[in-house]
Amino acid sequence: MTRQVVLVGAGHAHMEALRQSQRFANAGLSLILIDPGAFWYSGAATGVLSGALAPDAARLNPAEMAGPFLHVRQRVRTVEPKTKTLRLEDGLELSYDVLSLNTGSHISETPLLKAGAIPAKPVSALAALRATVETAGGRLRLAVAGAGATGLEIALSLASLQRRLGAQPQMILAGTTLLPGWPDKARDLARDAMARCGVEYVPQRVEDLSMGLIHFGQRKIAPVDILVAATGLSANLPEGLDAGEEGLPVNEDLSWTGDGTVFAVGDCARMLDHPRPKLGVFGVRAAPILIQNLINAAGGRTARRRYTPQSRWLSILDVGDGTGLARYGELAYQGKPALTLKRWLDGRFLQRYRVEN
Ligand SMILES: Cc1cc2nc3c(=O)[nH]c(=O)nc-3n(C[C@H](O)[C@H](O)[C@H](O)COP(=O)(O)OP(=O)(O)OC[C@H]3O[C@@H](n4cnc5c(N)ncnc54)[C@H](O)[C@@H]3O)c2cc1C
Repeated sequence: MTRQVVLVGAGHAHMEALRQSQRFANAGLSLILIDPGAFWYSGAATGVLSGALAPDAARLNPAEMAGPFLHVRQRVRTVEPKTKTLRLEDGLELSYDVLSLNTGSHISETPLLKAGAIPAKPVSALAALRATVETAGGRLRLAVAGAGATGLEIALSLASLQRRLGAQPQMILAGTTLLPGWPDKARDLARDAMARCGVEYVPQRVEDLSMGLIHFGQRKIAPVDILVAATGLSANLPEGLDAGEEGLPVNEDLSWTGDGTVFAVGDCARMLDHPRPKLGVFGVRAAPILIQNLINAAGGRTARRRYTPQSRWLSILDVGDGTGLARYGELAYQGKPALTLKRWLDGRFLQRYRVEN
């Protein structure tokens, strides 16, 4: 019988696996993708949010990609590794020989979400947020909880959207540490950018959201219409796998430590030997290794490639004023060339998957 490789989640690495689906067919394997919707490219998400890019600029439809694979539009609810079976949300059961998870992450549970804050992930929620702000003509009091790279970029993008709509930016970015893990120079550039773009930075945690107010503790409050939570990520994983919030523990060959026929990559995986932050770039770089290892594992071959993620990587934030804030290791720079480079890199990535349609 034809051996079956099942990909769960249309994440970055799986998009590349679909692009190379002919390799699986050439090896005599059948390839199935199970994902409920589209692929949203986070690199272009804030460009969409600010109105600089068209609403569907960050979205790709994996079903439209050419190649010998089957797309099942469903969410996987449970994995049963002992019987190599998946249970989908509609109750359907499906078996696999080799399984690969690229299911991303979500904003970790926080009382702010229960109180009505909008999560920064999934990225599709940001496209809906743009429409809400546009409907109000930009005249909304906005706030973002969490001052990491994602929170900062969302705050700057929303302020940019308000300016674009002819409204005065009303934006608060709150978080005890600005850009944790980034060099001091990047933090200085970020503070200047926020001052220039109408973002007020409050170096405190948002403790609560109630009655249209955000509460910072010590009786400090601010009125708000919309709060976005960018407060930390947890892995998306189906039930039945023994894993914590950080993700499924994987070896250097991206196989699960608990079962060599299950692989995981991107935000849903925890690379034991090389821990890295949850960023799309690692899923992109891991893709060639994942694809080869899936083909080898499904074909009964023991050879495996190892993935060593780079220790320094380029991050470019869209400041929303025509400039980008770039960071590479301890280096930081802000200017128009950084945004030009970001748009070029993002466009090249998206084109890679559109061109094959
Ligand atoms: C605003 C914002 C900006 C960002 N900018 C950048 C950036 O510039 N550069 C960067 O490197 N990172 C960036 N990130 C981080 C980036 O979003 C994540 O690291 C990246 O999306 C993770 O990719 P992935 O391939 O692991 O999964 P994703 O690309 O998130 O894909 C996961 C897929 O799995 C599917 N899925 C989930 N659960 C199931 C299930 N049970 N069954 C079936 N399918 C399922 C989802 O529908 C989704 O299609 C940003 C994040 C945000 C929020």
